[in-house]
Amino acid sequence: MSKSFTREEVARHAAEEDLWIIIDSAVYDMSRFIDLHPGGVFPILELAGKDATDAFYGLHRQEVLIKYDRYKIGTIANEKPQIEIRQPGAISKVPYAESSAWMGFKSPYFTESHFKFRAAVREIMGGLEADFRELEQTDGKPSDELMQKLGAAGLLACNVGPGPHLRGINIPGGVKADEFDYFHEEFARVVPRGVDDGVIGGFVISIPTILNFAKPHLREKIVPEVFSGKKRICLAISEPGAGSDVANLRTNAKLSADGSHYIVNGTKKWITGGRFAHYFSTAVRTDKGLSMLLIERSEGLETKAIRTSYSPSAGTAYVTFENVKVPVENLLGVENQGFKVILSNFNHERLVMLMGASYAGRIAVEECFKWANQRKVFGKRLIDQPVIRNKLAGMD
Ligand SMILES: Cc1cc2nc3c(=O)[nH]c(=O)nc-3n(C[C@H](O)[C@H](O)[C@H](O)COP(=O)(O)OP(=O)(O)OC[C@H]3O[C@@H](n4cnc5c(N)ncnc54)[C@H](O)[C@@H]3O)c2cc1C
Repeated sequence: MSKSFTREEVARHAAEEDLWIIIDSAVYDMSRFIDLHPGGVFPILELAGKDATDAFYGLHRQEVLIKYDRYKIGTIANEKPQIEIRQPGAISKVPYAESSAWMGFKSPYFTESHFKFRAAVREIMGGLEADFRELEQTDGKPSDELMQKLGAAGLLACNVGPGPHLRGINIPGGVKADEFDYFHEEFARVVPRGVDDGVIGGFVISIPTILNFAKPHLREKIVPEVFSGKKRICLAISEPGAGSDVANLRTNAKLSADGSHYIVNGTKKWITGGRFAHYFSTAVRTDKGLSMLLIERSEGLETKAIRTSYSPSAGTAYVTFENVKVPVENLLGVENQGFKVILSNFNHERLVMLMGASYAGRIAVEECFKWANQRKVFGKRLIDQPVIRNKLAGMD
């Protein structure tokens, strides 16, 4: 049971080596933390033995309090917390932070299946939130264990959207494959942006090329490997000289003399998830046009990290191909008609980006609202400044 203290008792622990503070009626022993505080010793020392609620919330997000919960030693007698601690996966109460249907409004789009899916995904993702935050902070590679947890929960397959690929997948919330539509959105809500790209970004934009254009034996091998999180795949289209101008790409694939394989040479740039990928769905130039090839990581294929403004967890890579041998069965679609495959695939990518951006927008609004309410400057909360309220109104 949590210990109970009076404010006078807390006030007696006001020395650097014996330092307690109060945040929203909870008592924290900061003696062991003070030297670890990223903002230095002084701000905590100044509040030793006192109520630090305003000072804390003026500078930190609530997640920090949850992270350092281990320093909590009790509560103030006869006082109740005034600030609600957001439970992982809970529906936000901030205006516009969630789809209106989640906030109790009637929607023609959302049915019981969406609600069941949302509740189940939030629960799964709530359990993984700490893994994602850790990844965000360490800039690490999303682990095989994490990928396989997402795979086992059916979330990798669901991220690809509706379609026959969902048959046989254990969809969260018991949703049936043919009930699943594009309004079953949830993933972007929880996973930080760069990490999201490392976990699903490269995969979600490349796997449709396999689902829709690979030969059956290839599809039957690769799709289960990728949906279970055991293998990773990325989309390798862009090159240093061919970004928007995709048709100008130079990576080439020459058929071997015996016609059994292509020999691929060239460079790809900005390839999301490329550093971690086992498979590369790759656009190449063949004798009479463009073609798509599924290339396995093998001799002659190398990946190098590209530094980006978001997390290295996205695995953004340069990919170089030097005489890489690719079996002809790995052709996706028809030889020299790869541009159709590329364009068909871009449609899916655009929709995914749109949905991610829509949720990212909601999260931005939510964070701004929360911050404007808790941050005090010039003696008042940010939200008390008309110019800030005007900006928030503009965001909605
Ligand atoms: C974080 C990140 C991840 C990526 N992941 C992948 C990936 O996984 N796989 C992959 O293949 N690629 C990936 N890309 C590459 C991405 O597809 C290209 O960056 C994009 O196609 C633009 O190409 P570019 O950067 O060469 O810009 P450019 O083609 O040089 O364009 C520069 C600017 O000019 C504009 N522009 C170009 N041509 C015209 C025109 N004709 N009319 C008007 N405006 C024009 C463009 O809109 C752009 O604003 C990624 C890029 C980034 C930044």
